[in-house]
Amino acid sequence: MSLENVKELIQESNKITILTGAGMSTESGISDFRSPGGVWSKYKTVTIQEFISDREKRIYYWKYKSETIPSMLKAKPNHAHLAIGKLDQQGKLFWLLTQNIDGLHEKGGVDKKRIIRLHGTNRETICLSCNRVIDIKPVLERIDIGEVEPKCEKCGGLLKPNTVSFGQGLNPEHLVIAEKASRECDLFMALGTSLQVFPANSFVDVAYSNGKPVIIVNRDPTPYDDLAKYRLSESLAKILPMII
Ligand SMILES: [Zn+2]
Repeated sequence: MSLENVKELIQESNKITILTGAGMSTESGISDFRSPGGVWSKYKTVTIQEFISDREKRIYYWKYKSETIPSMLKAKPNHAHLAIGKLDQQGKLFWLLTQNIDGLHEKGGVDKKRIIRLHGTNRETICLSCNRVIDIKPVLERIDIGEVEPKCEKCGGLLKPNTVSFGQGLNPEHLVIAEKASRECDLFMALGTSLQVFPANSFVDVAYSNGKPVIIVNRDPTPYDDLAKYRLSESLAKILPMII
């Protein structure tokens, strides 16, 4: 295999579905939540059930979110995000399925309408009562001036960052689209994801079992490497601009 082969395959494809994980954003300075030193090793997790029923947990959750989200909001897309943005501008991106909650794909030039945010986004909050979604910045400003558990200004319901919390299922509509995106694409790429989390990893199976070529780019080995037509372990920010 040479990089030329990979590049050719991408050039020949017109309906590409891409699945991305934390490895996409490490070069934008956002650490993998699961890695040592990542958010999950520093902060205790709060389940959705605890968030709803326990005021102390809610205050704790918002405290850690208000300490971690601002740096995420300041992060810039790296060359890997920009390469995927270019693919979309060329009309070759079918769907982008991302496990990331940092919003960097939108900033990197991918049309929001083509992104399925499997785990939600830290750039918005949602009201758990009326489902109203608003930008997170004004909510973080309210915390800065002393609110500890922000409530919805319309209905008084609990506000939560619009991410999928522990104990919360993924959006079923998203799963339907993601399955279709994996089945109907002409090339499937898994980028910067360890492919250890269900159901994200199952989309590789769907693509593969429907005869679609799979490209995997990830620093560490994944359980799906044997299915891949091409498997690369280079840095995404370095390699994607070379093949897209
Ligand atoms: Zn509300």
